[in-house]
Amino acid sequence: MKMPSVKYARTFPRAGRLVRVMFMSVILWICLLALPVLLFKMFFEKDPDVQRLWGAGALGCLVLGGLVRGIIYMMSSKIRCPLCQGATLQMARCRMNQNARKYPLLSYSTSKVLDMFIFRRFVCKYCGTPFRLRK
Ligand SMILES: [Zn+2]
Repeated sequence: MKMPSVKYARTFPRAGRLVRVMFMSVILWICLLALPVLLFKMFFEKDPDVQRLWGAGALGCLVLGGLVRGIIYMMSSKIRCPLCQGATLQMARCRMNQNARKYPLLSYSTSKVLDMFIFRRFVCKYCGTPFRLRK
């Protein structure tokens, strides 16, 4: 699972769409991480007023998370790999390319968003072509 060097990476056309999906994913991750914390606080809070506040926070996280997930789904269906035409950010059950990167416990798409964050590069999970976000 080595990251291909920058030299071989192609620029992804209109990379701004990917950046938007990236930031949406961050909001989604924050919601997903905050939800169990808020629920935990709600169940172990003695004061009913504060308990209601934690509950409202958890509900807000759930609604926002669902909304953001829907937006990500709609945006990512339009983002296709310029070489293989695969919807690179959507889930698929087919076999992935051997160069596709996947972190333990994470999905291919989540691993790719992480790669975009850390390396500003990613590998198409269908054809294995390395892309970079910047020119
Ligand atoms: Zn591809």
